[in-house]
Amino acid sequence: MTIQTDVVIVGAGPCGLFQVFELGLLGLKAHIVDALEHAGGQCAELYPDKPIYDIPAIPMCNAIELVDRLKEQIAPFDPTYHLDEQVTELAVLDEERFFVKTSKGTEFETRAVVIAGGVGSFQPMPLRVKGIEDFIDRQVFYRVKDPSQHHGKDLLVLGGGDSAFDWVNELAPHARSITMVHRSDKFRAAPASVDKMRQFEAEGRVKFMIGNCVDFTADSGDLNTLHVRHPDESITDLDIDHALVFFGLSPKLGPIAEWGVELEKNQIPTDTERFETNVPGIYAIGDIATYPGKKKLILSGFHEAALAAFAIKARLNPDEKVHLQYTTTSPIMHERLGVAAS
Ligand SMILES: Cc1cc2nc3c(=O)[nH]c(=O)nc-3n(C[C@H](O)[C@H](O)[C@H](O)COP(=O)(O)OP(=O)(O)OC[C@H]3O[C@@H](n4cnc5c(N)ncnc54)[C@H](O)[C@@H]3O)c2cc1C
Repeated sequence: MTIQTDVVIVGAGPCGLFQVFELGLLGLKAHIVDALEHAGGQCAELYPDKPIYDIPAIPMCNAIELVDRLKEQIAPFDPTYHLDEQVTELAVLDEERFFVKTSKGTEFETRAVVIAGGVGSFQPMPLRVKGIEDFIDRQVFYRVKDPSQHHGKDLLVLGGGDSAFDWVNELAPHARSITMVHRSDKFRAAPASVDKMRQFEAEGRVKFMIGNCVDFTADSGDLNTLHVRHPDESITDLDIDHALVFFGLSPKLGPIAEWGVELEKNQIPTDTERFETNVPGIYAIGDIATYPGKKKLILSGFHEAALAAFAIKARLNPDEKVHLQYTTTSPIMHERLGVAAS
């Protein structure tokens, strides 16, 4: 069934989230789509624990706290999140409607689109071993969708960040065997997770090795053995059922480049009054938007979201004069925020 809505927001980074708020104040309903499994964009994916100091009136907060506060702030507008879904298609239906489709087949007919795609969709960094592509999602996994499919198996976990440690610790009690391989014994993970893995290692439930996976052996279409090269050039052959690869994520502009929206060095040029692209009705805000003087800062994206919301309201309701109202005093905004006195 095609979902009908006022606005589809592509990207649930900080700017996409705040766009929901600005649209909601003006009475517009938004669906928000992100390729990641969680909202927060770069804040959640690249620097969740780092403190941010330049959000107005918040002297300091962690990136993940900012995302949580934004989600709380937009909750009254009840946005529909479509996470773990990449927007793959965007097409103009007519002057007033757009068609949007995601990688999971969700379809929208929407009256406006805001692209808040940041630096693009985050994609897993691949295991660079020739021929390994043939085993992706069968024996080589970049994300764990169903942990139980790895229970009772001989597992190899590659990586040294939080995801690698989280899954080693989660799966250690359930796997037949589990070997963790990282290029060094310096990790980018929470110390408590590293301690837990070391505890499993001391109990003989996890084996840790320094090295890189360089090759594999397959038989009758099944991956049997992965070959790990150590710093002294020696090789260990690991017989495994599944390899879980957590080398981090890198952004790719991806399908946005195919939507007929003008691009300039992987950014979308907009005006600075409406933040509209070259296609009327499609707007761009946040890191993906560019114009003279653009600064890739969260607060710039918040400003852009506010003006884009007014422009969208005017476009969708051409006969209605859109007055500036204050959230402190506007009864209609209080009603929309769910704070109206009864
Ligand atoms: C280490 C670091 C520190 C930073 N510190 C600060 C700071 O202190 N202050 C500050 O103001 N800024 C800081 N920034 C910059 C700030 O994080 C960005 O300006 C901000 O995240 C931009 O937000 P956004 O919503 O535009 O995009 P993003 O945060 O990049 O989010 C975009 C989202 O769009 C999604 N997406 C893209 N394409 C698609 C698609 N086709 N379908 C579905 N989803 C899609 C992506 O998955 C992503 O989640 C920092 C950045 C980094 C890397």
